[in-house]
Amino acid sequence: HEPLFAAYSSGDIQKVKAVLADPKRFKVVQCAPAIRVSLAEEFGLPFGTLTPGKMAAALRRLKFDRIYDTNFAADVTIMEEGSELIGRVMSGERLPMFTSCCPAWVKHAETAAPELLNHLSSCKSPMQMGGALFKTYGAELDGIAPADIFSVAVMPCTCKKFECSREEMNVEGCREVDLVITTRELASLIKDQGIDFIHLPEEPFDSPLGKYSGAGSIFGVTGGVMEAAIRTGYELITHEQIPNLQLDFVRGEEGIRTAEVQIGDLELKVAVVAGLKYVDAVLAKVGEGTCPYHFIEVMACPEGCVSGGGQPKLLLETQRKCAYQARKSAVYRHDSHQKVRKSHENPDIIKLYKDFLGEPLGDTSHHLLHTKFVDRSVKEEMS
Ligand code: SF4
Repeated sequence: HEPLFAAYSSGDIQKVKAVLADPKRFKVVQCAPAIRVSLAEEFGLPFGTLTPGKMAAALRRLKFDRIYDTNFAADVTIMEEGSELIGRVMSGERLPMFTSCCPAWVKHAETAAPELLNHLSSCKSPMQMGGALFKTYGAELDGIAPADIFSVAVMPCTCKKFECSREEMNVEGCREVDLVITTRELASLIKDQGIDFIHLPEEPFDSPLGKYSGAGSIFGVTGGVMEAAIRTGYELITHEQIPNLQLDFVRGEEGIRTAEVQIGDLELKVAVVAGLKYVDAVLAKVGEGTCPYHFIEVMACPEGCVSGGGQPKLLLETQRKCAYQARKSAVYRHDSHQKVRKSHENPDIIKLYKDFLGEPLGDTSHHLLHTKFVDRSVKEEMS
């Protein structure tokens, strides 16, 4: 997927350094779920070493004012996307619903199947939802004007740089996310500043926009968004506890994984598409009206974000396999160690809706957290 976007830029490291040195800017940062299972590899630690606390400590040493987290925003995504899915299943409209958190997949849909864009969830990605909340809810909590906040996101791929520059990703007259850097660029920055990453203590993220559930952390692997959505959807629909939190049927290796999940009276048909090469056949069936699924997760990278193009580079195929496997295991281990493993039970998510958003799909959510997609087929044909 990486060649789709020619946005890899060492100049972005210089931009972050300049902003970090500017005392007039209030600097906030978020890291995608997949960064904390790969960053340590850049410092010689084994594949899949899990270092959320050291990552938070390093970001604090870099002088970010707030260490927030994309995982928190992933929990928000589940609240919004889960509610949207329930609504569509009940009404039978615009099914199947596709996830919309991978910008490479969204751009592919905009280019290859613009007539089906109303099947995508209207949710922004967790990165953009986080960006919008940091400059509104976060700005209010800190008493800072949105225009004085500079928002950096550390992401596993360069297409997130493209996503943050999309015209519609604006809040309060500002960019939601001002700059995206990759895992490799963050590692360069930490080394450049002489921070001894390996010996850093484990430090927490800032609250309330940095506390996450296990469900938020599994967005880093393919099938993770689906698993997180089912954990919450099951309980919102049935008002009963889901019998098993580990949903093995979405955790496989195949390019397309399908399942039927019994949720009360509803037999929810789901599919996970891991890799863009599998998606056109699915889109064709949706176009023909013969696609049997209610909900489809699509990630452009075959292993999900743990294998994104901005992650530590590995030249040998055998190394890549080991690294992806270790990073995936670390993501699931991180989830299993969390006290709260469902997005709707994250206390800071409950507080966010009570104090600021109101309810999922409410007016404030629509304004801040949902978006529209663009038909790029004509533009692509002409270029
Ligand atoms: Fe980026 Fe790949 Fe994750 Fe999509 S799946 S958001 S392209 S790293």
